[in-house]
Amino acid sequence: MGAISYFYPQRHEAHFQPGHPERPERVEEVRRGLEEGKVWDPFPKLKALRLEDELLESVHSPSYLDRLQKASSQGQAMDLDTYTTPESWSLALQAAGGGIAVADAVWEGSSRVGFALTRPPGHHATANRAMGFCLLNNIALAAEYLIQVKGAQRIAVIDFDLHHGNGTQDIFYDRGDVFYLSTHQSPFYPGTGHIQETGEGEGEGKTVNIPLPAGSGDQAFQAISNKVIPPLLDQFSPEMILLSYGFDTHWRDPLGGFRLSAAVYAEIIGRLDRYAREHCNGKFAIFLEGGYDLQAGKLCSQGMVKEILEEPWEDPLGKSPRPEGEGWKSVIQRVKERWSLGKDQS
Ligand SMILES: [Zn+2]
Repeated sequence: MGAISYFYPQRHEAHFQPGHPERPERVEEVRRGLEEGKVWDPFPKLKALRLEDELLESVHSPSYLDRLQKASSQGQAMDLDTYTTPESWSLALQAAGGGIAVADAVWEGSSRVGFALTRPPGHHATANRAMGFCLLNNIALAAEYLIQVKGAQRIAVIDFDLHHGNGTQDIFYDRGDVFYLSTHQSPFYPGTGHIQETGEGEGEGKTVNIPLPAGSGDQAFQAISNKVIPPLLDQFSPEMILLSYGFDTHWRDPLGGFRLSAAVYAEIIGRLDRYAREHCNGKFAIFLEGGYDLQAGKLCSQGMVKEILEEPWEDPLGKSPRPEGEGWKSVIQRVKERWSLGKDQS
């Protein structure tokens, strides 16, 4: 079994709008960070799998897929911030198929961990709508693939992007077989992800939201990663963990207000990976979502993979020059109360 495998999107530069923050350089800098960290060349790059219509249409409505394909053929925007180009449709299919290839390799055991450099990103895309730079919901399609094609029964999706993954939450809101947990800046785009959004029907209790104020950083994420996520995952008992990874949580990000360092981001993802090793036969796959500072993208990704491979790493960007806020403490207290996680720890 290989330690890690990657998906890298060919020709993704053709999905591009001048001046837009979701730009090709993001993925190129992530790759450069992995190359410079010597964790890129030794490991396999997987080809995107072809998406069957049946799978695509179980996540997105046929009318939406039709609309997206037509808009892309003319390079029309889907909304004010979500552009397309004539290549976007095939690149969105490629990204989703790449995420699925990585999930498949991890599920089948040819690779312990997978990292899909999915672009365009996916977690804001709902069943019926493109938004927030996202066209197809890559991580939702991968979760659905594992369930429908591989027979998985319980998949956990953890979303550490700065933004709430409203699309992923929506798609699985009434489902008992997919657990969704998101940490995100709040109030902020897209405006969803409140503590009281917990799922419905068979999905009741399978959605967990941790909306954190701007200024939250290393301390907040360490507390959540140590005290909140493990007991919730224990209750769900996933067979595999999928991570929506956005480096817009880093303190340098131009859109975000979190003060997370690359070192602690790597540490908390490493913690999730350890959980997967202890409880999910090591099955852990990472999907790139947002992140708009190129240095942060390069170094968060390098640190994350080094942590997973248990190689030493120093964070050259260091901690946020601005102090972390304290507002997260009362949020975590409320989350713990809602989920009966005990009140003794901070
Ligand atoms: Zn984001």
